[in-house]
Amino acid sequence: MMLLGQLIFGDSSSRKWATVARRGIAVIVLLCSNGSAFAQTSPDGSSTVLVKAGRLLDVKTGDYRIDQGILIVDERIKEVGPLAVIQSHAPKDVAIIDLTQFTVLPGLIDAHTHLLQNNYSRIGDEPNLLITVTSMSTASRALLGAAMGRQDLEAGITTVRDVGNSGLNGDVALRDAIESGWVIGPRMVVTTRALAAPGGQFGSAERIPHDRQNVIDQEYSIISSPDEARRAVKEAVYDGADCIKVITSHQISPEEMKAIVEEAHRSGKKVAAHAIDDVETRTAAEAGVDSIEHAYDIPDDVLKIMAQKHIFLVPTDGSEELWKRNVRPEFRERATPEELKQANDIARNVFGWRSQRLKRAMAAGVPIAAGSDVYVDHPGITRGVASVAVVHGYVESGMSPLEAIRTATLNAAQLLGWQERVGTLDAGKFADLIAVSGDPLKDVSELERVQFVMKGGVVVKDIDSKRRFTRPLTKQSWF
Ligand SMILES: [Zn+2]
Repeated sequence: MMLLGQLIFGDSSSRKWATVARRGIAVIVLLCSNGSAFAQTSPDGSSTVLVKAGRLLDVKTGDYRIDQGILIVDERIKEVGPLAVIQSHAPKDVAIIDLTQFTVLPGLIDAHTHLLQNNYSRIGDEPNLLITVTSMSTASRALLGAAMGRQDLEAGITTVRDVGNSGLNGDVALRDAIESGWVIGPRMVVTTRALAAPGGQFGSAERIPHDRQNVIDQEYSIISSPDEARRAVKEAVYDGADCIKVITSHQISPEEMKAIVEEAHRSGKKVAAHAIDDVETRTAAEAGVDSIEHAYDIPDDVLKIMAQKHIFLVPTDGSEELWKRNVRPEFRERATPEELKQANDIARNVFGWRSQRLKRAMAAGVPIAAGSDVYVDHPGITRGVASVAVVHGYVESGMSPLEAIRTATLNAAQLLGWQERVGTLDAGKFADLIAVSGDPLKDVSELERVQFVMKGGVVVKDIDSKRRFTRPLTKQSWF
């Protein structure tokens, strides 16, 4: 989360019975998807599906491959190649999913989400955070997260790295519920509470009195020494974190940051650092974190350190086009002409400034992974569609559509440490794929109109299904 208009990784523990539950869901979903495909179950209990892809984007090479077949057994891709060849390897009565009229891509990855938070757009971040923490239980936030996760999934986001603002481990509960098949949502890498200096992200406008510090402790794990930093990392790992998130304010010392990185890496966890300016990004980069989130005001020499150490930048930049189309009309309703002009000027500056920073990062050779940081409601569109638009935002800033798609597939998978599982459509990986009608290499906004989504071999959004499970929320939880 990125307050005041500014702004995971590793392996989950094994949950064997989850696979059984998931397989049950797969069968139900396929039965419901108006008969387009019925997974064939073999005597050994496995199910096989053949996806016919008219055009498949190889995100590694950037090439389109025409008339491809993707053979899927249970949750994983068994084989990909020319349709005629793959079909000859498939069982005679294999279930077919016909995407011959579509462009097929790997499922998208959003490396910076806050599924358990949905701010009301008409009030600022700090009051929103206060209202959320004081009026919503972790249980309701996990349920909100389930709704947001489903919206993400149906928009084509099959994996997220959720970076905090989840109450007391609500993200762990949601991740495990999804993995167990209780609810349908994206694969999740979670952080539990973000480590932060006293006060967390409750800023000066909403300073929390000392006798109510438990409000802060519900949202942040507070540290004020290297020893406390190590303790907080160990606690997060115990709580179920896949990755450690730290809010790198000026109050976090280089020694504390080094202790966090050392302790996290010792436990096999990566570190995601929220950092904005010279001091914060330098502290994070020098300590050797794995990703720097936001980095709106990062100097060139820190970008150089990031490139040398292969530290990812997660530019949570949004899309100017989305802002114009969605946020501005909402604002226009209540703003005076002067206020609207001021807002337009600010937006132009902010987007211009972010775009310059992205160009500098690209020129420096910093690896980049997509992160939406969407945590505010976008009237009229789902969380998922609003989040996918960040990829369009990178193109607005000068990135090629292919590079932008890579940030949300290949690169993000590498950042999560999940490159063997997701990010490309290769044999052995999860069968997470999406299909769009047009050519995303010509118009990347095609990704905001995903027609088909499969996660782990399960169809969660079908091309000819009129059913829509996810809509924008009708009301906020607390209003
Ligand atoms: Zn964020």
